[in-house]
Amino acid sequence: MRKKNKMSIQNILQKQRTFFTSQSTKSLDFRKTQLKKLKQIISDNENLFYEAIDKDFGKSQFDTYTTELAIIYGEINYYLKNLKSLMKPKSAKTNLPNLPASSKIYQDPLGCSLVIGAWNYPYQLSICPMISAIAAGNTCILKPSEVAAHSMKLMANLFNENFDPQVLHVETGGVAETTELLKLKFDKIFFTGSPQVGKIVYEAAAKNLTPVTLELGGKSPALVTENANLEIAAKRITWGKFLNAGQTCVAPDYILVDKKVASKFIEVLKNQVDKNNYQPNSSHFTRIINEKHFTRLTNLIDENKIVFGGKTDLEKLYIQPTLLYPANWNDQIMQEEIFGPILPILVYDNFDEALSQIQNHDKPLSAYLFSNNPSEIEKFCNNISFGGGCINDVVMHLTNENLPFGGVGNSGIGNYHGKYGFEAFTHQKSVLKRATWGEPDLKYPPYSDKKLSWIKKLM
Ligand code: NAD
Repeated sequence: MRKKNKMSIQNILQKQRTFFTSQSTKSLDFRKTQLKKLKQIISDNENLFYEAIDKDFGKSQFDTYTTELAIIYGEINYYLKNLKSLMKPKSAKTNLPNLPASSKIYQDPLGCSLVIGAWNYPYQLSICPMISAIAAGNTCILKPSEVAAHSMKLMANLFNENFDPQVLHVETGGVAETTELLKLKFDKIFFTGSPQVGKIVYEAAAKNLTPVTLELGGKSPALVTENANLEIAAKRITWGKFLNAGQTCVAPDYILVDKKVASKFIEVLKNQVDKNNYQPNSSHFTRIINEKHFTRLTNLIDENKIVFGGKTDLEKLYIQPTLLYPANWNDQIMQEEIFGPILPILVYDNFDEALSQIQNHDKPLSAYLFSNNPSEIEKFCNNISFGGGCINDVVMHLTNENLPFGGVGNSGIGNYHGKYGFEAFTHQKSVLKRATWGEPDLKYPPYSDKKLSWIKKLM
């Protein structure tokens, strides 16, 4: 059975390669037609999208629209509007030794791409890179995460029914199927998931020198200084942390707060979480994806440090938003990315020391600073390395399609969204077009001192 599946995916890839080589994916018209069709399919079936994700982990229609579908529509609309200018060869200046000539950079699609998605935003994290692949003139095989099984099946059914497999095919399956896919030769692999699996993907890609984008995770800090607006900080951190029950790659993983304002801030934070009313029966609070993650998360809760929350219900896969204080770097919860609704709070004595704490760990996907002090803001932006982030907010940077979204170091390689997604699937092909008149024999042998002295002047 597995062999048949493997053969069929090989055949699909072969068909995609033939189709790509025939130049069929490259015209503006073709790309726009695919994107419009995708938009239509999603908007015609929005209810199915809401139903499937609700079955997977109880995500509300509100959250599914704002954090999944709206972002997908935004990406499609961006490309429908900007594709013509993105595709256009860009003129570049020509340097003196090459004149007379013109220089251009062609926006060359890479070819056959593989997109591997994560489960926590099962639509957005699969479909947005796929949109970029198609917009950039590539073919695409999409492998969504099997962990959000209903969402994966929905995408496979809808897209495989409506798209020519020569352009787009959704392959379902888990580790075994992904392992088989990774044995094939693609021209681009775009992966979203954990750093551990990211390394497996990178190694497989290296065998064929396939370029990769790796969108990974890590522990993203939220730094709250004595110069912060504590009410706003509590409101925004609470929202971003408990959205999707903390199962968000850019959620603040932990808080580092100035000792001078720590107890006041914790009171404001507790009030805010309480006000948001994340009850087991609240439709606005998503469930934990499965029992494995539920058990992993509940084991991270240190009963002695709970200052808010701590209730859990395995049957409902519910973990109450939980604040742990005072946390420290030796706690179990600080050894891994939390990816759930538990928020440890650490204190620091001075700002520089807080920055060093962040710097002494793996480069995070995101980092957030709450402060109205310009010198703190400048130090935060200039002195530590992180994928992207916000000042006085969390998560929202990824909703601005004019900003590249991606990690650095352990949190990823490359970026996407808007024009950066187009670039992730495009080779910048440089072409120098020389005139055929005027050919000084300066560079041709036999060489002479006089020629060298001229060349020194020109180059
Ligand atoms: P994961 O790495 O377990 O799985 C991601 C994908 O890899 C899935 O499609 C899965 O089928 C496949 N996979 C899993 N194990 C594999 C193996 N051994 N060999 C080959 N393929 C394998 O990640 P996840 O649990 O789906 O997502 C959580 C992680 O992803 C977190 O670390 C989170 O921070 C990160 N993440 C990052 C972003 C981002 O945009 N940077 C977004 C969402 C999630």
